[in-house]
Amino acid sequence: MIPAAFAYHRPETVDETVALLSELGDEATVLAGGQSLLPMMKLRLAAPEAVIDIGRVPDLRFVREGKGHLVIGALTRHHDLERDPLVGKRCPLLGEVAKKVGDPQIRHRGTFGGTLAHGDPAADLPAVAVALDATIVVVGPQGRREIPASALYRSYFETSIAADELIVEVRIPFTEGAGGYEKFTRQAQDWATVGVLAARCGGTIRVALVSMGHTTLRAGAVELALAGGASIDEAAALAAVGTAPVEDLRAGVEYREHLCRVLTRRALEAASA
Ligand SMILES: Cc1cc2nc3c(=O)[nH]c(=O)nc-3n(C[C@H](O)[C@H](O)[C@H](O)COP(=O)(O)OP(=O)(O)OC[C@H]3O[C@@H](n4cnc5c(N)ncnc54)[C@H](O)[C@@H]3O)c2cc1C
Repeated sequence: MIPAAFAYHRPETVDETVALLSELGDEATVLAGGQSLLPMMKLRLAAPEAVIDIGRVPDLRFVREGKGHLVIGALTRHHDLERDPLVGKRCPLLGEVAKKVGDPQIRHRGTFGGTLAHGDPAADLPAVAVALDATIVVVGPQGRREIPASALYRSYFETSIAADELIVEVRIPFTEGAGGYEKFTRQAQDWATVGVLAARCGGTIRVALVSMGHTTLRAGAVELALAGGASIDEAAALAAVGTAPVEDLRAGVEYREHLCRVLTRRALEAASA
């Protein structure tokens, strides 16, 4: 449980971080809250030659209002999202989902940017970004670029963020309507065996699925059915269409598909309340 040796860098600015990432290339990795990276390093599933600790880079931990969206700094902790009054007012579902991540220790250290960058299909908060069409703002050697959440995830733990890019902020459209996040776990404070998020945005309902494939997914068949006038029961019956859940220690494929339909119905009921 001791990580392989690595060089440690502690940049003071975003520019310095990007310069280090460019210089060190694929051998370097960013350390934010460390709640995913450090366990992987201890298990030797990751063995970066250099770790770039962004924990002291200023101005990356904030929540503020933009035009029609919240702007959230990459180092904003899950715990901040739970408590922030602006989040509570403008996107309460984000705070509700943050409350369901791991345990209090993890939520005090883990960051919004970190969980989005990690690309774990079992993570909770990416479901909010994917369902609400968030924009991920990254900075690299060529400057800033925006990645729509729909284009963020490529495969299992694989994102479209380049090795020399850093997430600096995330924009989440205001979503003050009803919504619900249903997370099924084997025990308290566990990863989602399956998670389903439903959010009412204007006249439409968006649905995102956790642990139902290699990436966080949108439940397109459900959204389409609802837009076409289907009932909640009819739409929820389609929840597993187009998904590719895997069998693991938590559940088999059929059980995940069953959970997905049941949780989708519950999340849709919450979003329709
Ligand atoms: C016991 C345990 C239980 C957990 N339970 C849950 C759970 O129930 N639900 C859940 O969703 N999560 C859970 N987590 C994970 C937790 O939410 C992590 O905080 C999160 O996945 C990663 O955030 P971090 O800030 O700790 O990132 P780190 O671990 O520091 O980094 C993770 C990855 O993201 C990259 N990265 C970090 N920040 C940036 C950035 N700004 N730009 C580009 N790349 C970046 C790093 O290089 C690394 O590859 C759990 C973790 C543990 C240890």
